[in-house]
Amino acid sequence: MSQIWTNWAGDQRCSPERIERPGSEEDLVRVVRGARRLRPVGSGHSFTDAACTDGVLVDVARMCRVLSVDGADVTVEAGIRLRDLGEELASRGLALENQGDVDMQTLAGAISTATHGTGGRFANISSRVVGMRVVNGAGEAVDVGGDDLRAARVGLGALGVVSAITVRCVPAFRIRRIDEPRSLDDVLPRLDELVDGVDHFEAFVLPYTRTALTLTSERTDREPRPRSRAQAIFQDLVVENGVLGLASAIGKLRPALIPAVNRLLARLMSRTEHLDASHRVYANERHVRFTEMEYAIPREHAAEALERVLALIERRSLPVGFPIELRAVAPDDAYLSTAYGRPTAYIAVHQYRGMEFEAYFRAVERIMDDYEGRPHWGKRHYQSSHTLAPRYPEWERFQEVRRRYDPEGRFVNDYLERVLGVGAP
Ligand SMILES: Cc1cc2nc3c(=O)[nH]c(=O)nc-3n(C[C@H](O)[C@H](O)[C@H](O)COP(=O)(O)OP(=O)(O)OC[C@H]3O[C@@H](n4cnc5c(N)ncnc54)[C@H](O)[C@@H]3O)c2cc1C
Repeated sequence: MSQIWTNWAGDQRCSPERIERPGSEEDLVRVVRGARRLRPVGSGHSFTDAACTDGVLVDVARMCRVLSVDGADVTVEAGIRLRDLGEELASRGLALENQGDVDMQTLAGAISTATHGTGGRFANISSRVVGMRVVNGAGEAVDVGGDDLRAARVGLGALGVVSAITVRCVPAFRIRRIDEPRSLDDVLPRLDELVDGVDHFEAFVLPYTRTALTLTSERTDREPRPRSRAQAIFQDLVVENGVLGLASAIGKLRPALIPAVNRLLARLMSRTEHLDASHRVYANERHVRFTEMEYAIPREHAAEALERVLALIERRSLPVGFPIELRAVAPDDAYLSTAYGRPTAYIAVHQYRGMEFEAYFRAVERIMDDYEGRPHWGKRHYQSSHTLAPRYPEWERFQEVRRRYDPEGRFVNDYLERVLGVGAP
């Protein structure tokens, strides 16, 4: 009997023929050999149908052990969640070099879509991957080496099911993060200075206000000051998620109130500080459900592109209560990395679950097209292989590797047909 699978946001669903949950690479090989068409899935944190299939869905969540540690190179099973990986690494005096803003994703899922954090000197998580094992379309577990790794690191689940990943870690470190409201007119003109002057800089800009909540993080040797459980619950659940949830619910009920609600939110923002182990500071709790689109553009256009998005919202009176997120990362060389070959700014737009988003996202996408924007592989967009190929200089090299690993297209689903232009069997 088929089951229904849904993503975290609850807006992508499919009914796979069956869901397999292998517990080891050996099991995984058996699953792949026994299926005609299949799709790997992590923790379903993508906003697209990237993992959807009506074939066999392969959930690798049970494959979550640390396999070996060789200096800073740590090999783990592909289904380990970033949260658990953070704790495992910390217990060995190690850490991931950089992370995104939540840690519920699996490592395989995160790297497959080029998941990133922020920091002008730091590249996407996948850039630290130095080895992988993949069960390919022939059902063989192979070590991925040489240039193939540049395809597999951001592989979209198109080469096979990743069973193990070796990540080059760094010595454990602490971060001091200061969140504070600032005038956007203070932030955008000096964006480069702000990004380059600290380890990690990020801004959440509230539409209909000229206010940004900036998150500024520095690596530090100072003693950690972890929050108590009560403080964490109050700040994360009540202040951040509670206030955002309430404001979003009001906005959904009465869209005309959104500008006033946003102005009130901007006044309520205050300075907070975290000082703790890196993996605990990077990750935030997200309980308010939403959908999202995010574009990677050359960093030098970030301020202009963001101003255009804000102007669009005001000109069309779009009902957008969620802040726009701005981050920056260093270039890397994975064939399909959204930050391939260029210092990159990421601009993300969100919409509260159940509210109309398409007109907004399409209009933002047209702005990002002007900057050769590359959409996040795990977030909504309306591009196709025809529009994407010219934005990736090594597109053909990726396709060549994909054909070798999966010549019969057993891992192809509607999503891959659309974004890679490859056919299912
Ligand atoms: C609340 C929230 C916050 C987020 N924050 C960030 C952020 O800060 N930065 C950012 O860049 N993104 C962010 N994202 C997006 C998210 O990181 C990506 O969509 C990521 O791919 C999700 O990982 P997952 O484990 O849930 O994978 P899934 O969404 O389940 O799968 C993603 C892709 O990976 C493939 N895949 C999964 N497992 C395997 C495997 N074992 N082998 C081969 N392919 C596999 C799937 O087929 C699919 O194509 C966020 C998403 C949410 C919902």
